[in-house]
Amino acid sequence: MGDELTSYERWGRLDGKKVLVRVDFNVPVELREGRWHVTDDFRIRSALPLFEDLLARGATVVACTHFGRPKGRVVEEFRVEPIRERLATLCADVTLMENLRFNPGEEANDPAFGASLVQGFDYYVNEAFSASHRAHASIMIPPTLVPSAVGPNFRREVEVMRGIIDSPARPFVAIVGGAKIGDKLGIVKVLADRADSVIVGGGMAYTFEFAQGRTIGSSLFDASYVAQCTELLSRDNVLIPTDTRGLRDGSPIGPGAGDDPVLDFGANVPDGCEGFDIGPETVERFIAAISPAATILWNGPMGLFEDDRFARGTEAVARAVAASSAFSVVGGGDSAAALKKFGLSESVGFVSTGGGASLELVEFGDLPGLRALRESPFS
Ligand code: AMP
Repeated sequence: MGDELTSYERWGRLDGKKVLVRVDFNVPVELREGRWHVTDDFRIRSALPLFEDLLARGATVVACTHFGRPKGRVVEEFRVEPIRERLATLCADVTLMENLRFNPGEEANDPAFGASLVQGFDYYVNEAFSASHRAHASIMIPPTLVPSAVGPNFRREVEVMRGIIDSPARPFVAIVGGAKIGDKLGIVKVLADRADSVIVGGGMAYTFEFAQGRTIGSSLFDASYVAQCTELLSRDNVLIPTDTRGLRDGSPIGPGAGDDPVLDFGANVPDGCEGFDIGPETVERFIAAISPAATILWNGPMGLFEDDRFARGTEAVARAVAASSAFSVVGGGDSAAALKKFGLSESVGFVSTGGGASLELVEFGDLPGLRALRESPFS
C-alpha cells in the first residue's frame, strides 16, 4: 500500500513554496507554577526529520494539530502555546497554527474550514497517522485542493501494520485487551481469521467469560456483545482468561488508591466483587502462548494496570512480548504506556503512535486519511 501514496520527495526543491504539515502534537502537559509544560515531546521530536528535510529543500513550513477536546470553542487550557514553545526549542523555523479543534469545522469535516487551512499554501503533507482514522477537515479536505503527500512516519506505520496482517511470520499471536469491548470486537474477529492465536484479556474479557456461562460479579460487561463473543469462542484459536483477580465492590481503585486486599477469584467472580486483572493461571497460559510467536501484535492492557495491584497481568504479557524473538508490534495508547511503565519500550520491534488508528487499519485495511491522499486529484 505505502507505494501508491505520493512521497513529498517527488516535489524536489521547494524554494519559495509553502507547505502545510498536519501533525498529531496532542501531547501530555502539566501545570507547573501557573504555566503549562509539555511532559513528553516524543511526538514533536518524531516530526523533526520531515520538518528539517522540507526546510532544507527551501520550503516555508507551517504545522497544524488538534490538542485535547475543546469541542469547537476557544478554550484557554487547550491553546497550543506550550507545544509551540517546545517546538521552538527543537526546530525554530516551523510555525504552529492554533488548535484545529477550536473551530467546529474541524470535527465536522467542513470543506470551508479545510479550505481555509490551505489558503496560500502550495503543498500539504499528512504526518498524523494517529489522527487519520478520523474524517476531520484537516485530514480530508487539503488533499482535494493542493498536491498532497504522506509523511515518512505515517508511511512506516502503514507498512508495518499491513506487513504483519498480510504476510506475518508464523506463528502469529495477537493480544487484545482494554476496557471497551465495543471498540475491540471487530479487530478480534479480523485477527481470529488471520492470526494463529488471539489472546483476549482486560475488562473486555468478562463479556466473553459471561458468554461461557461463568459468573463475573460486577466486572465490566456489555450485554449487547454476548452473542458475538459466543461465536468467537467457538473458534479454537481465541484464548480468554481462566481466572481473575480483583476487589470487593466499593474498594477504592486507581493509582495509589489503597491497600484493600486483592482477591484471587479463580474462574468465577462472586456477587459483590469486581475483576481488575487476569489471574495467575491465566498469566502462565498467556505467557506459554506468546513465547513461541514469530509475529506479535499487542493492543490493550490485561487489567487496570495504572493501579499497581492490577498491573501483574499486563507486566507479564509485556515481558513475554519483549522476551520473545518475534517481530512485535505494539498499538499506541495504553499498551505503549504500559511498556514505558515497565521500562520495555526499547525491547519491542515497533511501537505505533496510534492506538485507535492502528486498530482501524488492521480491522478495515484502510483509514479515512489514507483514502483522502489516494483519491487526491493531484496524486
Ligand atoms: P481501552 O480504552 O478500551 O483500551 O481500555 C484501556 C483501559 O482499560 C485502561 O485504562 C485500563 O486500566 C482499563 N482496564 C483494563 N482492564 C480493566 C478491568 N478489568 N476493569 C476496569 N478497567 C480495566
